[in-house]
Amino acid sequence: MNGSGSAASARRYLRAAQVVTAGERGVIQDGVVVVEGSRIAAVGPASDLAAELPPEGVQEFPNGTLLPGLVDAHAHLTLAADRRTYEQMVLDPDEMMALVSVRNMQRHLACGVTTLRDNGGRNRVTFIVREAINRGYFIGPRLLLSGRPVTHSYGHFYWCNGVADGAVAIRAAVRQLVAEGADHIKIMASGGATAGNIPYYASYDAEELRVAVEAAHALGRLTTAHCRAKQSMINAVEAGLDCIEHAEFLVPGEVVEYGGGVASSGVMQYDPHVTERLLQAGLFVSFTFQAGGYDSLVELRTKQEQGERLTAEEQRRRDALEHYYEMKLGIFQRLLEDGMRPRLVVSSDAGPFDCEFGRMHYGLELAVQGGLTPLQAIEAATRLAADCCGVGQIVGTLEPGKEADLLVVRGDPLKDIRQMADVWAVYKGGQHVAPSPCSALLPGIVPVA
Ligand SMILES: [Zn+2]
Repeated sequence: MNGSGSAASARRYLRAAQVVTAGERGVIQDGVVVVEGSRIAAVGPASDLAAELPPEGVQEFPNGTLLPGLVDAHAHLTLAADRRTYEQMVLDPDEMMALVSVRNMQRHLACGVTTLRDNGGRNRVTFIVREAINRGYFIGPRLLLSGRPVTHSYGHFYWCNGVADGAVAIRAAVRQLVAEGADHIKIMASGGATAGNIPYYASYDAEELRVAVEAAHALGRLTTAHCRAKQSMINAVEAGLDCIEHAEFLVPGEVVEYGGGVASSGVMQYDPHVTERLLQAGLFVSFTFQAGGYDSLVELRTKQEQGERLTAEEQRRRDALEHYYEMKLGIFQRLLEDGMRPRLVVSSDAGPFDCEFGRMHYGLELAVQGGLTPLQAIEAATRLAADCCGVGQIVGTLEPGKEADLLVVRGDPLKDIRQMADVWAVYKGGQHVAPSPCSALLPGIVPVA
């Protein structure tokens, strides 16, 4: 900053009834964010910045709340969330997956997600999509990419073609992914909803996971592991992973059908000793609240509330999903009680089955039901998520020097977290990116037969 007239005139001012910094400045009433270029130049109460505020041209959001753009630490850009199983979705060619990514990104941007960590796509699709954004073909969130997830033969997401069995292959896979552009390494440490998988068993052992972690860390990359089984969470701690996804604490038993798609799993059984080890080792937990059928559950609840009768099959499905979410909320509550909050991130897992992009507010609403205050829930999807993804120096809070990734919602989400769904404006690097005519015209999901 040189303080010259041209630099000062290049400044832009956004003023809202409330500014949630998600950082040290806390919440500011009648706040202003000053943007210069792509970055935040200042944040403070309007009264402090009065001398600087121009008489005209301040972007006003009366009765609005200005927050940092959301950081979704777990999504799958290439998957359409159109209720197909993985086995049906992977019939799409890479070209279609690239186009699906474009659509998904617009939906996530429109709900305020300005940074998105993709945790697994096939071949080089996500790398190419990012290249297209960088070339300016279309707008997307900041992308943090794993590329293909590392998985064993026929392991979860094996169809992404990141299969690696044994130490030599795992090390080679990690090195190749980094060379192709991976920002982090995603490894599948337990089974998932891929056909033939058993979610409550670990897939790699701790020794294999450690090989991936060492190879990734040697190249300056963070690691995160898909961990639905309790044993896989223990293995991840022993292997030195930086983050675990899902954290369902599944224990061996029966594979239970909770309503199709990704919801098939086992029984969750919380174990405080595992949490203790996670905390000691400093791992982040990326809790994918929406995944597992929440979109379907909301649909079924709404249908019933509107007086429509559910079919016997729908009622069975609703009961199963209610049970699944009861267990999941229970796990979240126990994690909070045992001190996990500073490392607990709320993410979406958008893409598989019914988990639609553009609904980050679902996870925030569930987090509040699970015991977070609305402010804590927002922090779990901004500051903490940014730290978890290794971009806490760039985004995640509103403070001078950080990128001007901003979300404005109507009303007060600190009083009612559901206001997070009422998006007024989204900025990425100071550029207005949503709502745009493009995203407004996007149709709803059309299930593919
Ligand atoms: Zn996932």
